Amino acid sequence: MLREHGMHVTAQRLAVLRAVSDLPHSTADDIFTAVHAELGAISRQAVYDSLAALTDRGLFRRIQPAGSSARYETRVGDNHHHLVCRSCSRMVDVDCAVGATPCLTASDDSGYEIDEAEVVYWGRCPDCAAAPAGEDVAQ
Ligand SMILES: [Zn+2]
Ligand SMILES: [Zn+2]
Repeated sequence: MLREHGMHVTAQRLAVLRAVSDLPHSTADDIFTAVHAELGAISRQAVYDSLAALTDRGLFRRIQPAGSSARYETRVGDNHHHLVCRSCSRMVDVDCAVGATPCLTASDDSGYEIDEAEVVYWGRCPDCAAAPAGEDVAQ
């Protein structure tokens, strides 16, 4: 995958790639923790730099819901959407409801060349909805 995207293969990038693929929608901190557990000596900055480089090259999609840290995933290029729990911040994928990219068709594009639409559904996940009122499910 790295070579296909014209990137040098390093242990660090492989570990970051594996972590994001194993833990979709994880934050940079989560990814640092996973990569650190695998490689040992690696700086937070090095992990953040790899994340940025891989995102720039299109291997990762970066999602930043309002009020949340940025999340990363390897499912790119299909314009899928996300459900976010307001209580525990868990995020899951939602496919487009109909067709390939229906949300790319704006009712009025004002002359813009649109290439992405971002839809975030907010609510409470089943665990949080089932928890007694006022109690958030611990992550
Ligand atoms: Zn929840
Ligand atoms: Zn996703």
